[in-house]
Amino acid sequence: MAWNTSNRRDRLPRDWHIRRARVLRRDGYGCQALDSLGAKCGEPATDVDHVNPGDDHGYGNLQALCRWHHARKSSAEGAAARRPRPTQRREAERHPGMLA
Ligand SMILES: [Zn+2]
Repeated sequence: MAWNTSNRRDRLPRDWHIRRARVLRRDGYGCQALDSLGAKCGEPATDVDHVNPGDDHGYGNLQALCRWHHARKSSAEGAAARRPRPTQRREAERHPGMLA
């Protein structure tokens, strides 16, 4: 089950710790998640999240999140990944030319 998501951490780039530190600094060490009114959470960010889940580790696809928002988003993504997805979407995620 969920074989395609279980190894996500293993696929992080070698310089992930550098990217992570730069994203946290860029985002002012504040959580970038928006509430239903479009206001930023602003809690101290401890995690760096992939905006679009997958292998795009470019800075444009990374954002700082607090632990709560990251856990909430990751659990939602895990639930979504366990459901079959339309073929169209799967192909878009696999596109290799999106590295920043
Ligand atoms: Zn937050």
